[in-house]
Amino acid sequence: MERRISGHTQLYGLIGSPVGHSGSPAMYNYSFEKLGINAAYLAFDVPLEKTADAVNALRTLHAGGFNVTMPCKTAVARLVDRLSPAAELVGACNTVVFEADGTMTGHITDGTGFVRNLREHGVDIARRKIVLTGTGGAATAIAVQAALDGVSEIAIFNRKDEFYANGEKTVEKIENAVPGIGRVYIDDLDDAEALEKAIAESDILINATRAGMSPLEDVLPVPAEFLHKDLAVADVVYNPKETLLLKKAKEAGCRAAVGGIGMLLWQGAAAFELFTGKEMPAQEVMEKFFK
Ligand code: NAD
Repeated sequence: MERRISGHTQLYGLIGSPVGHSGSPAMYNYSFEKLGINAAYLAFDVPLEKTADAVNALRTLHAGGFNVTMPCKTAVARLVDRLSPAAELVGACNTVVFEADGTMTGHITDGTGFVRNLREHGVDIARRKIVLTGTGGAATAIAVQAALDGVSEIAIFNRKDEFYANGEKTVEKIENAVPGIGRVYIDDLDDAEALEKAIAESDILINATRAGMSPLEDVLPVPAEFLHKDLAVADVVYNPKETLLLKKAKEAGCRAAVGGIGMLLWQGAAAFELFTGKEMPAQEVMEKFFK
């Protein structure tokens, strides 16, 4: 690493809090080195109230771009000069690129990363009916990207908790922005009859809730008996790598059972490409840092 740093090294980074656990510096620095790109990536612990200071500092230091994690994702979306269509709809961004004129473009790569991971597992979402559980950050990014990528129907299910209203807003935003899409609706995750019917009629079930994630590893987002052989099942949860939902999907003979770790990899790969215009050595990064 020291041998790579020179007076011309381009800075990239991650802002948010906490960031100490992040795998991003290892993933990006390895990729820079592998591709011979004179750049370095650091993680900066930035609390919400310091977001604008941090963004201005990165601009002053002529950084090439930066990633954003919680709690700064929405604040940064308000600070940039323009947003990608997906980031605009989600109202948040996780990747910012400094353009040649110093202006900032905000992107969100969670949704594209999720869709890419599905495709890598042989599951295409265009013209498919999907059931999506969850209405938080990850779910919103996936719903928006799925709509932009041409799914025919999105049935969103969530508990009637503090996240439910966000799902209602997402439905409205998608209907306005993607008028050609078929049905998009939200329903109560506790309405078993509606959930069973929606899953029976769907091609893909996506879990984007915290159910299944440590310490909720014994919680299933949907009853196992609703799973069927024609269904591809994907989980955003990557801790544990094989969630209870994925185990049940395999037992039920579902046509695919896709874990969340690949979404993490591919959202990073999408950001890397936005930063450098080059493809990240994704398979090597997966082997080295995500296995
Ligand atoms: P969030 O806090 O924004 O949303 C949480 C969601 O989970 C809400 O919809 C909430 O209603 C639901 N929920 C919480 N407890 C539940 C329960 N017991 N049963 C059913 N629903 C429940 O969280 P987020 O940032 O959207 O993250 C959600 C999950 O996605 C987390 O497990 C996170 O680790 C994962 N994630 C993965 C990636 C990836 O790259 N694979 C990226 C982002 C998030």
